[in-house]
Amino acid sequence: MLPFRENISLRDFCTLGIGGPARYLCEVRTVKEMQEAIKICYRHHLPFMVLGKGSNCLFDDRGVNGVVLVNKIDFCEECSPGVFHVGAGYSFALLGVQTARQGWSGLEFASGIPASVGGAVFMNAGANGSETFQSVESIDFISMDGELKTLKRDEVTFSYRFSSLQKIPGAIVGVTFKLKPSPEARQKQIEIVKTRSKTQPYGSKSAGCIFLNPSCGSAGALIDKCNLKGVSVGDAAVSNLHANFLINVNQATCRDMLELIELVKKRVKEMSQVELHIEVRQINYEINTHE
Ligand SMILES: Cc1cc2nc3c(=O)[nH]c(=O)nc-3n(C[C@H](O)[C@H](O)[C@H](O)COP(=O)(O)OP(=O)(O)OC[C@H]3O[C@@H](n4cnc5c(N)ncnc54)[C@H](O)[C@@H]3O)c2cc1C
Repeated sequence: MLPFRENISLRDFCTLGIGGPARYLCEVRTVKEMQEAIKICYRHHLPFMVLGKGSNCLFDDRGVNGVVLVNKIDFCEECSPGVFHVGAGYSFALLGVQTARQGWSGLEFASGIPASVGGAVFMNAGANGSETFQSVESIDFISMDGELKTLKRDEVTFSYRFSSLQKIPGAIVGVTFKLKPSPEARQKQIEIVKTRSKTQPYGSKSAGCIFLNPSCGSAGALIDKCNLKGVSVGDAAVSNLHANFLINVNQATCRDMLELIELVKKRVKEMSQVELHIEVRQINYEINTHE
């Protein structure tokens, strides 16, 4: 029987360290367990969401009035040279390092992103000119009714920080990546991590870039132009190192963070006439199965 624990603080399940309790939280370790968990939610009319590493979620101070299914499905197997079938709960950063070390190119950028593989596909995470979808061959997906399907890459639409899976209730449980051989992969991956550790506040509690880059350029540069580095609301602050990172300096609440987001948006709009949109997933207290 899967343990559905009650009243579990979400602060410990996200990189921002913000959020009240989940009404129920269940850690899922196999595809079968995910199917069972989704069927239980379906049967009991409980709204649920799937959580990866929580590196792109801003939870409400009241928490989540539903079930949070934490994806811990973390196998990784090389099926044929350069083709990897990976559990959706596997560390995306680790996958980036491991594959680059073995001389495979395509996921070097992943080594700096503290995501799960499923979260990276769901968000189409990207950096350094690469995006997750470019290396994806297929996705194992469980729909609301508990049915497991394998979707080919061209059955899913991807764009900047978007996948059409954001519109379909269910869980990504596995991903097959196809990578290309490259003797430079490891060196490229090392350089990426080195640069990121100098330009991003890795030791701080954040969700990475909080705003999407607008079509006219970099959100960070626009925020910087307004002299907002270091500005804070409660314990939420604009990072001094990277202006698009809003950080929790101690005990920030969701309310602090939302007020800071509004302040930044307002100043950027006044200064540059650009409307910023958040990249972070704001998870409301009342969830519809797939926020
Ligand atoms: C220090 C730092 C640096 C970052 N740098 C980058 C970067 O360079 N590029 C970039 O794109 N992002 C970056 N991010 C943001 C974040 O890592 C990505 O958005 C990542 O893809 C989120 O993955 P996750 O597993 O943490 O997802 P979560 O935060 O757990 O979830 C995000 C969303 O995905 C959904 N989801 C997660 N897993 C599944 C699943 N298995 N099935 C269905 N839905 C699912 C959740 O319901 C939620 O809506 C950074 C974050 C941090 C903290």
